[in-house]
Amino acid sequence: MMPNAPRRLGVIGWPVAHSRSPPMFEAAFAQCGLDDWTYQRLPLPPELFEQTVPMLGASGFVGVNVTIPHKQAALALADRASEAARAIGAANMLTFDIDGTIEAKNTDAPGMIAALGRSPAGMTALVLGAGGSARAAVWGLLDAGAEHVSVWNRTPERAHALASELGAHAVPSPVSADLLVNCTSVGLQRSASEAEELNQLDLSADQVGGYAYVIDLVYREGPTPLLASARRSGVATIGGLEVLVAQGALSFEGWTGASAPLAAMRRGAGLEAGST
Ligand code: NAP
Repeated sequence: MMPNAPRRLGVIGWPVAHSRSPPMFEAAFAQCGLDDWTYQRLPLPPELFEQTVPMLGASGFVGVNVTIPHKQAALALADRASEAARAIGAANMLTFDIDGTIEAKNTDAPGMIAALGRSPAGMTALVLGAGGSARAAVWGLLDAGAEHVSVWNRTPERAHALASELGAHAVPSPVSADLLVNCTSVGLQRSASEAEELNQLDLSADQVGGYAYVIDLVYREGPTPLLASARRSGVATIGGLEVLVAQGALSFEGWTGASAPLAAMRRGAGLEAGST
């Protein structure tokens, strides 16, 4: 790399225009005086992923975050992977080492646990969904000592497969637990009423009020129906942007070696102080 050349980071996705990671990282660089670091959106269709990503290291990229639909492909092309990435089967952080090799990590799982703000050790949890983020949530909860993790999914076969692979328990309908984690994409589209959206998760407002904590990985303008319902019942809630900031903070620290300036990153991601 040329002296004084920028240290490049970015987020690869398809689509990726909606990502809040660039302003979140730019706020962190400004706060820490890391003037030579940059973070950009990298729109990349799936058919170009495998041939393009290995060239990024030679183009000045220190690393990239990886989002939909590339997380499994990211793990597959890496030379080395963390235990979490291997167990989850997906990576959201790639680092390009000086020797030309690529290292894969998964910060989604520890990010979700960090956003919870306490250890889930001894807690019971219900994870909704059986896609990539549900795999990360189930693995992260069990790794952090959760006592019993149940999985519900619209397509039950996928919940059974995920649960048996990772050591959780598939359930035919949502069960009570200390912690509820929504890892489905329900709530992303502002199309239905709150009751209809809860119905897609097989939940009633009364049931939502029975959990001590609700995490919703989905984020959009304003609270999702699940978070709105939980808050009205006095349940402690953690929104998707909080989880995004927490996983971004782990990536930031891994690449720069600096402590993540969480308040600046929250502002950069569009979170007001104290909100979720
Ligand atoms: P994914 O692999 O595509 O999985 C989607 C899941 O949603 C599946 O379990 C699917 O069920 C379920 N689903 C979709 N539409 C549904 C409906 N109408 N009713 C009930 N269930 C439905 O997606 P993912 O990567 O796990 O991501 C899930 C969500 O989390 C996305 O909205 C994503 O943006 C968000 N996310 C946020 C963060 C963050 O940092 N905040 C990180 C990762 C992901 P079936 O199996 O039945 O299709």
